[in-house]
Amino acid sequence: MREILGPKNNSLIAYNVLEKKIINSNFCTLCGACEAVCPVGAVQIEGDQVKRVYNCADDLDLCPICYEICPHSEALLLRSLKCVSNAPLKNEAFGYYRKIVIAQAAEESLRVQSGGGGVVTALLKFGVETKEIDSAIVSSAEQERPSKPKASVALVPDDIISAIGSKFFPSSVAKAFGSAVTGYGKTRIAYVGVPCHTRALRKIEAWQHKIGSSLKISIGLFCFGTFSHASLLDHLEREYNIYPAEIKQMRLSKDFVIHTTRGIIRIPLEEIEDHIMPSCGVCTDFTDELADISVGGAYPLEGWSTVIIRTEAGEDFFNKAVAKGVLRVQPIEDQPSVYERVIRAAMQKRTAGLKKGRELEKTYGYTFVSTIPLRETESLARVKVEDIMTRDVVTVNEKLPIDNLLSLMVQKHHVGYPVLNEKGDLVGVVTLEQASQIDKQKRRETTVEQVMHKKLVKVLPGETGLDVFKKMSEHEMGRVVVVDPSNKSKLLGIVTKSDLVEILLKQST
Ligand SMILES: Cc1cc2nc3c(=O)[nH]c(=O)nc-3n(C[C@H](O)[C@H](O)[C@H](O)COP(=O)(O)OP(=O)(O)OC[C@H]3O[C@@H](n4cnc5c(N)ncnc54)[C@H](O)[C@@H]3O)c2cc1C
Ligand code: SF4
Ligand code: SF4
Ligand code: SF4
Repeated sequence: MREILGPKNNSLIAYNVLEKKIINSNFCTLCGACEAVCPVGAVQIEGDQVKRVYNCADDLDLCPICYEICPHSEALLLRSLKCVSNAPLKNEAFGYYRKIVIAQAAEESLRVQSGGGGVVTALLKFGVETKEIDSAIVSSAEQERPSKPKASVALVPDDIISAIGSKFFPSSVAKAFGSAVTGYGKTRIAYVGVPCHTRALRKIEAWQHKIGSSLKISIGLFCFGTFSHASLLDHLEREYNIYPAEIKQMRLSKDFVIHTTRGIIRIPLEEIEDHIMPSCGVCTDFTDELADISVGGAYPLEGWSTVIIRTEAGEDFFNKAVAKGVLRVQPIEDQPSVYERVIRAAMQKRTAGLKKGRELEKTYGYTFVSTIPLRETESLARVKVEDIMTRDVVTVNEKLPIDNLLSLMVQKHHVGYPVLNEKGDLVGVVTLEQASQIDKQKRRETTVEQVMHKKLVKVLPGETGLDVFKKMSEHEMGRVVVVDPSNKSKLLGIVTKSDLVEILLKQST
């Protein structure tokens, strides 16, 4: 039959692209989404590898799905963003959101077992007990290898509690989500994962794959990276004589803290960063920007978590749990050092990810993405700066002490501010990253003018979105200032990268 139809076009079979660009480049983070969606069961995770167990091209002429839903491909990223983009607030560090708070489980045992706020476990337990959800995808520790996560479908509170705590290795949560739908027949599932896990599920929804409609709520975890299991365990054995079976728990605070049967060992993160998976190097999402609710640490506070609520569904679920007394909450504005740390980590990850992505693009000749690719130049060329700029800009005076600047940043939630001098002229831009590098003791006597960027990237109101994009790319900046054509020191507005993404979002509806 094949001979009659003529030779097959292998480029129409997504697995070939997935294999070349993601699997063979070591960019797979083993989420299992490709296995969950494959229509013919051709792709599977075996051990620490994704494999095609039979050649699907024998049965199919065309299949785009596994590459498109892979969280590390650039397909569907824009459509995936729509799940959160109607939120009222956005900034470059957190993405779209409705509210940010600090929270902890009211049940002390959950806080003790989690090593953090126990918020995720408390939310899932509440969900199952009140039947808001019919199951949850969790990652518990394997019995014989306690450091290794095993993704599973939790049906009762005990299953959820036994998965408490973070495991810093890949977990195939999207695969478990697939089996919750197809194996267990669940239809109101809570899904917990790091940003690339969430992205895989949002892509499944955007693709309108049948399993996607069973997602009730997605709880995302902040993420600096995931370790390659074999590589990190080799290091621990070689350098510290720690054997896999001795590891009870791993925790993230200032250092990486390993609880073993023989005691606690603290390892600086820099020492083990070579064991982080390659895809994490280009990842720009720290706070899990596509989740309904994102949860991360609240360092330096112990026993609390930072919670970002992004969607109406997330807000509704979270508020119900608070009303039931399951969680305690306080405003993030009351904890400026927590806020500062989260925003700094998010911006560092974004900057480093974009830089590494550009380097790899040169080596491999194709793009490694984890952020919306801003390349749809026609849409950008059609809009004028004056139609997209934010006019009501919060500015700061160059003489403002850094202490006061940081308080303002916590109140207003902006990441960068144009700086004006006494005469009201635009003289620079200051970001939280620059401000937070000043020692805490020196922040009262240091002023904005001492840390601000003086070299400004300016645009005019009549320029296009495409002009802005080109300037941002050339100067590797996430924002530009809009100035008066007749007086280039007079600020009229500001345009950020997310304003450009918004154009693409609007035009794709
Ligand atoms: C790989 C990884 C890196 C992280 N990096 C950071 C960071 O840099 N900064 C920061 O502030 N926070 C980070 N976190 C999040 C942080 O460790 C906590 O998970 C988060 O604060 C929630 O705490 P909690 O006490 O509310 O969660 P808990 O109530 O303890 O619940 C944790 C939940 O996470 C799930 N889980 C555990 N491990 C995994 C995994 N590997 N994949 C998917 N799900 C898993 C469990 O099933 C459980 O339901 C990371 C988490 C992971 C898994
Ligand atoms: S049949 Fe499965 S493995 Fe083959 S291209 Fe489609 S999704 Fe990928
Ligand atoms: S979908 Fe997930 S498991 Fe499949 S190749 Fe991509 S990262 Fe790996
Ligand atoms: S850093 Fe990004 S790619 Fe790596 S595990 Fe976390 S979310 Fe996934």
